[in-house]
Amino acid sequence: MSEIAAHSSKINRTFLKVDAKFPFCKGCGHHHITNAINAALVKLDLEPRRVNITSDIGCVGLVDTLFEGVHSFHTTHGRSTAFATGVEIADSILADSKLKNLVVIGDGGAMIGLLHLVNAAQMNVDVTVILYNNFLFGMTGGQNSSFSPLRFITATTPGGNIIPPIDMPAVLKGANAGFLARKTATDPDLADTIAEAIAHPGFALVEVLELCTEYAVRGNKIRGNKLEEVDPGSIAELGVLVNRRDRMEFGEAYKTKSVQPAPVVKSSGIEPRYQNTLEKRVGFVIAGTAGERVQFASYMLMQAAVLSGANATQKNDNPVTQGTGFSLSEIVLSRDEIYYTGIDMPDVIVAVSEDGVRELAAKGMFEKANADTLIICDNTLSLPKCSGKVVELPLRKRYMPAGAAFAGILTAVKSTSILPILAFQDIAAMQKKPEELLSIIEHVVGGI
Ligand code: SF4
Ligand SMILES: [Mg+2]
Repeated sequence: MSEIAAHSSKINRTFLKVDAKFPFCKGCGHHHITNAINAALVKLDLEPRRVNITSDIGCVGLVDTLFEGVHSFHTTHGRSTAFATGVEIADSILADSKLKNLVVIGDGGAMIGLLHLVNAAQMNVDVTVILYNNFLFGMTGGQNSSFSPLRFITATTPGGNIIPPIDMPAVLKGANAGFLARKTATDPDLADTIAEAIAHPGFALVEVLELCTEYAVRGNKIRGNKLEEVDPGSIAELGVLVNRRDRMEFGEAYKTKSVQPAPVVKSSGIEPRYQNTLEKRVGFVIAGTAGERVQFASYMLMQAAVLSGANATQKNDNPVTQGTGFSLSEIVLSRDEIYYTGIDMPDVIVAVSEDGVRELAAKGMFEKANADTLIICDNTLSLPKCSGKVVELPLRKRYMPAGAAFAGILTAVKSTSILPILAFQDIAAMQKKPEELLSIIEHVVGGI
């Protein structure tokens, strides 16, 4: 009798439901592994409410339902480790870090969600994965998995598997996992190894080789207690393969050294010092070419509005290439708080290049304009047919392409009088090179 079995019988305790009826086929290795998990939990004498079992898809997805008093949840195929990682991080960083997170996953799930296992090992989250490896997809009809040994006969490899299996401990060793073991379901000390894995402070995985009696026996002539003979060439070493504690568990590392709370930066803020005359929410759409300071000019409009006591939002858009094509900003100004930043009907459109006109057209802005929309555009551009009051000016020629958007915005503000020009002067004066901006302001408004 193993140490665990002796311990369990002595304290006469179980984490399994008293009337738990294992739903697995006769002879299926899931019986052994699930019993070993129970024995390991008993050995560690954990409080059930401090245990969370996350199950994956497949016959293994029934395992968590057999336990009582523990937390459990059933997840999508291959993602159980990612879910458990999230639970563990929440517990270790936001709560008291007393939860023991177990994952029960089959070889099919491990194949589908391999990177989640690699990530969890890399992070060294305190998650223990029990990999029920029966070399095939059992629940769906016995198909080959990435863990099927060479020459293994499955529903999809009737002539024998020709692709070498993934060596999971080797992969996770490469991801710096702290505890890795490979056992067979009938190993008498399986529960001890699982208990060791659960007790390990950080990521641990126990791969347990087992037999799907429904699909693996036919054709493969194997026995559950002789799994190491399936293919000695493709089932590598058994036992505890890695046991190291030189890495800090993720939650501890997060709390103690990796991530310090960001220093509180006192916002320089903008204290209003002027009055706006906004009578309603006003939407500006400003469009030009990337690299011609369209979004910067729009930002100055937003800052001038805030300096004048208004609320303001800015949404920028440009192609993924950033430095080519159009550049566009949507600015909303309002006396009230702004909860919706979209512009369904533009009050002001500023168009300073062909790229900008094309994008405005693509966004349907000209169609959305109405008779009251003020459209300021460079006089070299031809606009699509639209409603609105169009003002054509030699913006690019007079203010250079880099000053055209700012001049267009100032023209609109001057025409509508919604913001004081003094606010723009103050904002311009705060920039690194204010002279050029101040000269545009002076030219557009004719001096103040
Ligand atoms: S189908 Fe295979 S893995 Fe599923 S319960 Fe039956 S023997 Fe076990
Ligand atoms: Mg399987």
